[in-house]
Amino acid sequence: SKAKLFDNDTKVKTSFLDVAGLEGAKEEVQEIVDFLKSPEKYTSLGGKIPKGALLVGPPGTGKTLLAKAVAGEAGVPFFSLSGSDFVEMFVGVGASRVRDLFKQAQQKSPSIIFIDEIDAIGRARGKNSMTGGNDERENTLNQLLTEMDGFGTDTNVIVLAATNRADVLDKALMRAGRFDRQIYVDLPDIKERKQIFEVHIKPLKLAKDVNVEFLAQQTPGFSGADIANMCNEAALIAARKNKKAIHHQDFLDAVDRIVGGLEKKNKVIT
Ligand code: ATP
Repeated sequence: SKAKLFDNDTKVKTSFLDVAGLEGAKEEVQEIVDFLKSPEKYTSLGGKIPKGALLVGPPGTGKTLLAKAVAGEAGVPFFSLSGSDFVEMFVGVGASRVRDLFKQAQQKSPSIIFIDEIDAIGRARGKNSMTGGNDERENTLNQLLTEMDGFGTDTNVIVLAATNRADVLDKALMRAGRFDRQIYVDLPDIKERKQIFEVHIKPLKLAKDVNVEFLAQQTPGFSGADIANMCNEAALIAARKNKKAIHHQDFLDAVDRIVGGLEKKNKVIT
C-alpha cells in the first residue's frame, strides 16, 4: 500500500469555539483568518500577507487545535504533516514530500499548511552533526526554506508551524518572509482550565455534584490535553462502576491517574 504523504482536510469543522482560553493567541491568529478570507482586501493596498507564523508552547496546549481552527474559521483547506515523520526517511524523500505539500497547497489556495514538531526538521544546521552536515534532515529543511522563499505575495498559502523548543530552531527559519511571527500558547491558568473543562464535559453525562470550579483548582500544571484526557478517564471510571452519570469523585480519581501518568513520564531512568 502507498504511504500517505501528508494529511489534507478540505472541510475543517474546528472553530475558535473548540479552543478554550488562549485569548491572546486567538486574537493574533484572527488576522491570519482575515487574510485568508479576503486576501485581495490586503494585497490591493500593496500590503504583503505574512507567509508563516510559529506557534510556541509546551506539549498539549492546543497548538494543533488552534491551527486547525484557523483553517475552519477561514473556510480553507488544511494540509498538515509532522516533523517527526521525517526523522527516519530515505534520502530525497523528505525534500520531495515538502515540495509536493507546497504544490498541492498552492493549487488549493487560499489554504493553510501546518507543520507539527518543526524542531525535528528545523534544528540549527551543522551542529552536533556526525554525518558531515549533509543529512536528510538538512535537505528537508533547505527545501522548506526554498519553498517559503519561492512563494509570491499573491500565493495566499499561510504556513503555521508548532514547536515546544523555539530555542533549538535554525535562525534562518525566523528570518523575514518566513516564520517571522511567534505566537505563544501557554499552559492554562485556573480560569482557562475551567473553560477547557467546560468544552470537554459538554458531551458527557454528569451527575449534579460535579464542581468544575473545584476541578480547575485541583489541576495546576495540567495542559488542555491533560484535561481532555482526564474527562475521558472520569467517564471510563464511572462506567466501570456501572454508574448512570459521572460524579465529582470520578473526576478526582481521574486526576490521580493523570498525575500518576505524568510522574511516570517525567521519571528519569538511571
Ligand atoms: P503537541 O505539542 O503535543 O503536539 P499541541 O499543543 O498541538 O500538542 P493539541 O494536539 O492541539 O496540542 O491538543 C491535544 C488535545 O487537547 C486537543 O485535541 C484538545 O482535545 C485538547 N486541548 C488542548 N488545548 C485545548 C484548549 N485550549 N481548549 C480545548 N481543548 C484543548
